[in-house]
Amino acid sequence: MNKKLSLVVPVYFEEEVISRFIFEVTEELNVLKSNYEIVFIDDGSTDKTVDIIKEHAKSNLNIKLIELSYNHGKQAALTAGITYASGDYLLYMDPDLQDPPKEISRFLIEINKGFDLVFGVRKEKKDSFINKIFSKIFWGVLRKFTGLQLPKGLAVMRIFNRKFASKFLEYQEQNRFIEGIFMHIGMKQSTIEIEQRERYAGTSKFNFKKKMELAFNAIFDFSELPLKLAVKLGLVFIGIGILVLLTIIVLKLYMIDFQSGWPSIIGALIIATGIQLFFIGIAALYIGKVYKESKARPLFSFKELTNLDQ
Ligand code: UDP
Ligand code: MG
Repeated sequence: MNKKLSLVVPVYFEEEVISRFIFEVTEELNVLKSNYEIVFIDDGSTDKTVDIIKEHAKSNLNIKLIELSYNHGKQAALTAGITYASGDYLLYMDPDLQDPPKEISRFLIEINKGFDLVFGVRKEKKDSFINKIFSKIFWGVLRKFTGLQLPKGLAVMRIFNRKFASKFLEYQEQNRFIEGIFMHIGMKQSTIEIEQRERYAGTSKFNFKKKMELAFNAIFDFSELPLKLAVKLGLVFIGIGILVLLTIIVLKLYMIDFQSGWPSIIGALIIATGIQLFFIGIAALYIGKVYKESKARPLFSFKELTNLDQ
């Protein structure tokens, strides 16, 4: 195989795993006789991560490093990596060896069947009970809110071709949710089941706060549901208010005795609140549209062209 493979690997305080990662990956790539590069993106670590990578890069010119000026978050780090990677295939993986490098060959085989993107999905997630529950809720909520058909049990490891990477780089949004963008691009996608291991060393960099941030980013990036909710809720309030007022009128007509005065005030109040909420919702929907336009996403992506140039 003489096509070039770029590994895109974000690192953030990973001094304990880097050397082991480079060892396992290069061993695998040498077996595959693959023309490769490993593009590390340091996301602002202040431990020895960068020094260790630079040391390896001296003896192996296929090891490349982008140092971000400070912690930008994994989504930005990955985008930087895709921008600089020059391979025909880009394989994205974490350095913690949870997704084992020996799976690289299977990804190559699968994408060579003519796909643009191959996602790894886990046979079984090796993680703490709490993390597993959180993951389930996280992806469940995202599927509901964003309406994206995200594969179940998504692993980190995935491979895509140059055509897919170029399309990805057309997405200009600041607030980005990469899995969402991948699904939005579409093209020809496939999945393969891969083995999962425990993190080789070190701890997960995704604490609860970071995970919540990611979830909200994803929802804001891909969903207008919260905006529509305001409109719907406004309509419900208006309905309830009208019902209250009608009830008062009916009671009056049938001369049924009740303390008058305050029910009508409450009824009017609920209607007024509903009208406000409704119009705030409408305004929000317009803001949502402006937001969508300002992202300037590509309008389409194609699977294939027949008798036409790329
Ligand atoms: N990471 C990053 N920037 C951050 C946090 C994490 O680049 O702000 C990287 C980290 O070095 C690792 C990957 O993202 O390569 C996934 O993190 P981790 O393995 O800690 O998360 P988990 O596998 O537990 O979701
Ligand atoms: Mg991990």
